[in-house]
Amino acid sequence: MADKELIPAIEGGTPVREEKIYYGKQWINEDDVNEVATTLTSGFITCGPKVDELERKLEEYTGASYAVVCSNCTAALHLACLAAGIGPGDEVITTPITFMASANCALYCGGKPVFADVDPDTYNICPDSIREKITDKTKAVVAVDFTGQCCNFDEIRKICDEHNLIMIEDAAHSIGSRYNGKVVNGRVGSYADMTCFSFHPVKTITCGEGGAVLTNNEEYAKKLLLYRSHGMEHDHSLFIDDIDEEQEGIWYYEQQMLGYNYRMTDFQAALLCSQMNRLDSFIARRKEIVEKYNEAFADLDGIIVQKELPESDTSRHLYIIRLDLDKLKCTRKQFFEAMSAENVQCQVHYVPVYWMPVYHKMGHQKGECPVAEKIYSGIMSIPLYPRMTDDDVESVIKAVKKLISWYHI
Ligand SMILES: *Cc1c(COP(=O)(O)O)cnc(C)c1O
Repeated sequence: MADKELIPAIEGGTPVREEKIYYGKQWINEDDVNEVATTLTSGFITCGPKVDELERKLEEYTGASYAVVCSNCTAALHLACLAAGIGPGDEVITTPITFMASANCALYCGGKPVFADVDPDTYNICPDSIREKITDKTKAVVAVDFTGQCCNFDEIRKICDEHNLIMIEDAAHSIGSRYNGKVVNGRVGSYADMTCFSFHPVKTITCGEGGAVLTNNEEYAKKLLLYRSHGMEHDHSLFIDDIDEEQEGIWYYEQQMLGYNYRMTDFQAALLCSQMNRLDSFIARRKEIVEKYNEAFADLDGIIVQKELPESDTSRHLYIIRLDLDKLKCTRKQFFEAMSAENVQCQVHYVPVYWMPVYHKMGHQKGECPVAEKIYSGIMSIPLYPRMTDDDVESVIKAVKKLISWYHI
C-alpha cells in the first residue's frame, strides 16, 4: 500500500493543500480602497481628473505619446480597429490561442479575422505563418503577447512594413514586459502602431473592468478619443459642418462618426492609479514565482515548459504547463481534474478561437492551425499571482510532481 501522500487525492490520497487555490487573483489593499473612496465624494465620478491622471501615468510608464483609457480591453481592441480604419472586406490576421476578443474586434468593424498558426515553442503567433496568410485584402495584424511574453516584434514589424499593414498589439497579458530592453509600446523604437491593455481582475493590475490603447500616432489618438465617446466633438474649431455661431453656443456638439460609450469612470481610474504604484512590485513577485516554477519543471519528464525569446523580458500573466501526453497514461482532462482534487484549480487558456460556433458559421474548421491545436490539447495554466506565498508555490509544484510521477508511463 503506497503512502497516502503519494496517491493523488482523486484516487483517495491526501491533497497537497487544504484550501483551494485559483489560477489568478487580484490584490486590492487599503490604499486602493481609500483612493476610490476619496474619488467617490470628490464631485467627479466619471471622466474627471483621475482619468487624465491615469492616462498621463500610463504614458509615463510605457513611454508612449498617447494613452486613451476605456471601459475594457475588448473595447480597446475595437477602438484600435476603428482607428485603423478596418471595414467590410478587410482581413485582420491574429492567433487562435487567445481570448476571443482579439479576433472579435475585426468582426465588430465588418472585417474578417484570419488565423495564423503559432510557434511550437513560444506559443505566440508565428511570423512565417503570418506571411502565408497575407492577401491583398490584409489590413492589420493583431499580435497577442500570450502569457505576457512579447511576440517576435522584429519580424512582425518587418512584415507589417513590407506589406503596409497596421500592427495592433493585444497586450492584455503583458503590461510591463520589455522587448530588447524597451517597455512595450515605448516611444523610442516602439513596434506596434497601437497597444491594448486589459485591467480585468485576473490581469496584472485591475480596476474591475478597464482597458487602454497606447499609441505614438496623433491621428490614431484623436480617433480613439472620438470613438470612445459617441464620435462627439465639442471643439467648434474642429467641426466638419459650418454652424450658425450667432445662434449656437458652447453647448453645441457635433457627432462626426458613429462612436460608442466606452468611457472609464473616475473611481475606476483612481483604483488603477493606485494599483500602478505597485505594478513593478507585482511584476517582480510574478517573476520570482515563474523562476521557481521553471526550476522545478525544467527537467521534469512529462512536462514541457514554455520557451522564452531572449529578447523578451517577460512580465508574466500566466504560467502554462504543457503535458507531454505521449509520456503519460492520463488525458489532459484527467490531469486537470486531479489537480483540482489536490485543491489547485487550474484553467485552460485558450480553446482555439475558430472552434467557436460563431466562427464555424463563417467557414472556419478544426484543423486550420495544427500547431495551435496540438498545443491546446496539452496545456493548462497553474496559479500565478503576486500574493501567492512561497508555501502556495511549493504546494502547486508538489501537486504537479506528484501527479506526473503517478501518471508517468
Ligand atoms: C482579457 C483579455 C482580453 C479582453 O480583456 P477585457 O478587459 O476583459 O475586455 C483581450 N485579449 C486577451 C488576450 C485577454 O487575455
